[in-house]
Amino acid sequence: MGEIREVAVCIGDPEKLRVIGKLDEKVDEEELPLLARVLKGGFVRSQNFVTFKRGLSIVTIYSDGHVGMTMVDSEEEALTILAEIEEKVRYVRENRDSIRAKFTPMNVNVLEIYNLLPKLNCGKCGEKTCMAFALKLTTGSRELSECKPLMTEGKYIRQRETLISLLTSMGIDVWL
Ligand code: SF4
Repeated sequence: MGEIREVAVCIGDPEKLRVIGKLDEKVDEEELPLLARVLKGGFVRSQNFVTFKRGLSIVTIYSDGHVGMTMVDSEEEALTILAEIEEKVRYVRENRDSIRAKFTPMNVNVLEIYNLLPKLNCGKCGEKTCMAFALKLTTGSRELSECKPLMTEGKYIRQRETLISLLTSMGIDVWL
């Protein structure tokens, strides 16, 4: 049975939690791409982690057994997520020969990112439109911090939190 190691309030939503948990055992590195397939998530090879979306939460699984969870309602929900992952790990171990590895990052589309931007088309990021900025974010050629309204205005704080999680889950480094 997994356990909770750290709990903090989400930056973007004080009613939600960021939780770091630990699975009851490590996940072999060669099992991670298989786990990504089973969880319908992505395996980010450069960082050696699996990430998947579960409702509003972004869940990240590391081979040492640590699990990061954003936007979680309660510690009970976090424990449920850990139990679900452990069940999937067992499934992977029992069926590894029939599961095709998934190496591609999680499929987050540009529209999903665009919808979380302020949509002001103000040009402060150096792009004429928020859509152009969203496209550049997905290729890593623009930094999230270049969108000044997003980074400085309190009303966008929740979107900022979600964007950080999404981009990180795609294997894109976010510098703040
Ligand atoms: S700075 Fe932000 S709000 Fe302004 S155009 Fe760029 S992405 Fe859109």
